[in-house]
Amino acid sequence: MILFLCNRAQYDYYKYHPMSEITSWMEQMVKDHPDVVTVVKYGKTYESRDISLLKIGLNTGKEKKAIWMDCGIHAREWIAPAFCQYFVREILQTYKTDAKMEEMMKNVDFYVTPVLNMDGYIYTWENETTRLWRKNRSPGPEDCACYGTDLNRNFDANWGTVGVSFNCCSNTYPGTKPASEPEAKAVTEFVGSRKDIFLCFLTIHSYGQLILVPYGHPNYTAPNYDELMMVGKGAAEAVWKVHGMNYTVGASPDVLYANSGSSRDWARMQGIPLSFTFELRDNGTYGFKLPEDQIQPTCEEAYSGALHIITYAHDKTFSGAVANAAVTLWSILSPTSHTFIFVWFQVLWLS
Ligand SMILES: [Zn+2]
Repeated sequence: MILFLCNRAQYDYYKYHPMSEITSWMEQMVKDHPDVVTVVKYGKTYESRDISLLKIGLNTGKEKKAIWMDCGIHAREWIAPAFCQYFVREILQTYKTDAKMEEMMKNVDFYVTPVLNMDGYIYTWENETTRLWRKNRSPGPEDCACYGTDLNRNFDANWGTVGVSFNCCSNTYPGTKPASEPEAKAVTEFVGSRKDIFLCFLTIHSYGQLILVPYGHPNYTAPNYDELMMVGKGAAEAVWKVHGMNYTVGASPDVLYANSGSSRDWARMQGIPLSFTFELRDNGTYGFKLPEDQIQPTCEEAYSGALHIITYAHDKTFSGAVANAAVTLWSILSPTSHTFIFVWFQVLWLS
């Protein structure tokens, strides 16, 4: 038993792990926190692996809202699954001592998929020649000998219009139709069938140090673009405060390149108000092969950025504490103060 505990304590969040170890880690999270964590299987990859997420939250008996986070939709971006695991550990460590996290765990469930593109991720672990594989592992159409669809071009969001190549050997091949790929279809069906509960959709990539807001198509702007930019900039500031790293915020065509069929855009088009892509470290020095000694600082800063967005999303919906404080204040103020505040608001609205 002592040996077992020692082994368990040794899970190293600051190393990259192969898929088998991440799957065991997910099972261990459920064993360690059976009242808070469950595994939900919500689809199968092309090679028939179960796509699983960790559902994390306190059971209150009430209907809850939700936060979505997925990592590893692109196989070679190894820092992303490392971040999802770090994120899970952090929220599970924090909620017992931090009142804000406890409040959020009561109001929302976190749905975290550590590795969405499992087949591709496993392929990148095979050998050095496959390390930079990006797509999933489904075979191309009959007339094409290449494998793989870019899952982040395969969602039903202006599918196949910009930032894609219909050459199936290309890294941005969007598939034969929207959600043609089982991995994209799994997210589409799972999130789409309960889209009203999701306050926030975060999809984690690397690299480039960016926080991207919808949309990837240059002709379309999200109806709450100003809000997305404000929250995104707040997240970038939170990131910067941790280790001084600069993250750029914007719509993809403005700060990276135009694209279509991304899960971020799809989520926003489904009505999920706060949808963001994180592109983690670095800026290209190591690119997808981010050294393991950067896992910890990258996760620390990204956690802070993600938490900024999640807290905003939570507080916007569950502002009970703020509202109650305002009512209390109002009730203890004199009628003269009420008149003053009323006039003051009128002046504000007119200006
Ligand atoms: Zn990516």
